[in-house]
Amino acid sequence: MHNAALAHHNLPYVYIPLPVSPADLGLTLAALPALGFRGVNLTIPHKQAAIPFLSALDPAAAAIGAVNTLVFEAATPDAPAQRVGYNTDWCGFAADLTALGVAVAGRPCLVLGAGGAARAVVYALLKERAIVRCFARRLEQAQTLASALAYVAGAPVLTAHAWSELPRWAGEAAVIINTTPLGMGAYVDQSPWPADLAWPSATLAYDLIYRPARTRFLAQAEAAGSRIANGRGMLLRQGALAWPLWLGTTPDLPVMAAALDAALSASEAG
Ligand code: NAP
Repeated sequence: MHNAALAHHNLPYVYIPLPVSPADLGLTLAALPALGFRGVNLTIPHKQAAIPFLSALDPAAAAIGAVNTLVFEAATPDAPAQRVGYNTDWCGFAADLTALGVAVAGRPCLVLGAGGAARAVVYALLKERAIVRCFARRLEQAQTLASALAYVAGAPVLTAHAWSELPRWAGEAAVIINTTPLGMGAYVDQSPWPADLAWPSATLAYDLIYRPARTRFLAQAEAAGSRIANGRGMLLRQGALAWPLWLGTTPDLPVMAAALDAALSASEAG
């Protein structure tokens, strides 16, 4: 999607995949500015590990504890190269909720999972002044998330819960978000939603997974009459939000969306 938009805007850049082992991350990040890279996206397992190698960190990325977008400033005779870390996952998720017409202010939202992506989602929900309940199979992981992000809201609207507490809170939820990998890859036949728990029908189900397009979690929600959304919109928007940081401009979103959809269709077919 980046290359389609770069070509559309006639910009002299290319976006390429760089498989990098964890052991080589520091070395690679040191070398990329000198090689002419304007920036990179980072994915699993580098989103947290990259932070010690940065010269500066955006406050939202610092609060979330993960970066997915780096901007490089080349070295000058007076200053070494700069590597600045940002997180566009949180604003990509927030922008997608807005695009879906979903307002969460003052409404209970349940976040399933408490890993890196959950932190970005919770940060976005708190910024939108939602009431957030985070569920994890390891309660301490949800508690760590809650204590790291509680200050964002400035009010006790973020709580940590064990998975077994889902039945107690399910009925009140306005939005339920899956941030676990259950529904993709090796877990394609699984859902984080317990099979014996009725789905609250007036609820939006949002799954961060975008491949497959319709996870088991989304199928459960749809069968109960709920609105559903997968992670394709978040993926698209987090990418578009990197452009002002890298290039000082915004991409043509429909061009990016068409390229993304073509790639996702091809990968689902294959
Ligand atoms: P992560 O840091 O590994 O976190 C995964 C979370 O899911 C952890 O809380 C983990 O708990 C939990 N989990 C894993 N297996 C579970 C199970 N069987 N039952 C209950 N909980 C389980 O991964 P991440 O970076 O947050 O990514 C999570 C998902 O979000 C991935 O599917 C990724 O592709 C997606 N994502 C999508 C976008 C987008 O733009 N759409 C952006 C970022 C991420 P434990 O620590 O106990 O295993």
